[in-house]
Amino acid sequence: FRVTLTPIRRRDKGVAGVIAVLQDVTEMEKLEQSRREFVANVSHELRTPLTTIKSYAEALDDGALEEPPLANRFVGVIRNETERMIRLVTDLLHLSRFDSRRNQLRRQKTDLSEMLEEVVDRFSFQLRQKAITATVKVDSKTKTAWLDRDGIDQVLDNLVSNAIKYTLDGGTIDISSKMNDTGMLAIAIKDTGIGIPKKDLARIFERFYRVDKARSRNMGGTGLGLSIAREIVRAHSGSIAIESEANVGTVVTVLLPIVPEGSEPS
Ligand code: ADP
Repeated sequence: FRVTLTPIRRRDKGVAGVIAVLQDVTEMEKLEQSRREFVANVSHELRTPLTTIKSYAEALDDGALEEPPLANRFVGVIRNETERMIRLVTDLLHLSRFDSRRNQLRRQKTDLSEMLEEVVDRFSFQLRQKAITATVKVDSKTKTAWLDRDGIDQVLDNLVSNAIKYTLDGGTIDISSKMNDTGMLAIAIKDTGIGIPKKDLARIFERFYRVDKARSRNMGGTGLGLSIAREIVRAHSGSIAIESEANVGTVVTVLLPIVPEGSEPS
């Protein structure tokens, strides 16, 4: 607690009493600490590719340019690292956009089958590459919902992209939607992938938290996908939950209000 004391003075300048204000600063401090951690993480994540780019550029300068096969490899590394930085900066922009957009969602009546089929279509190349079968099942009782399409497309892209990244060749991804017993729309993305160990599950939505940093990096991950998804879902007054078993698979469930709060279904 922060304590502020203000004396109450009498006319003759004597002190009649004291006003004490107790302010709970734990929340403020927590916020400040998480902000500091975030900035440190961002700096580290940007610094790593920059250091790599610098050393490969120097190696090219120091003679690698004379050996075309080597030079090609080095240029390839520089390009990959640059692409990773672009993804990271794009993800950071998404985070800040939804941070400040809580009440400015552009909801529109959305056909759920169409929306979910379109996600699968966007990933058809990667799915084919890994021989992963993707299915979409929409409960016929709930065919539409009022959603901010840009936001929810981003959520689905992040979740399906994870499902593909962390599922071995030949696996399956089942995407489904239905109304749950509390009247919320439940969209589930279920994979038969490597799963997440129990000890990591509680922290998985934290910014930059990754079970295996090296694996995530190799897969092109930034460690921000799930936190962006949670930010957008919360902006919709929804919630997101993850269940997983190592070496069996993962189910991510997104709960969303079917109509905006305060309005009646039409
Ligand atoms: P990343 O860019 O690293 O994928 P995310 O925030 O999307 O970042 O996910 C955080 C971490 O959660 C990942 O690094 C991975 O360890 C784990 N993860 C997310 N989705 C899955 C999944 N479907 N299967 C297994 N692990 C997952």
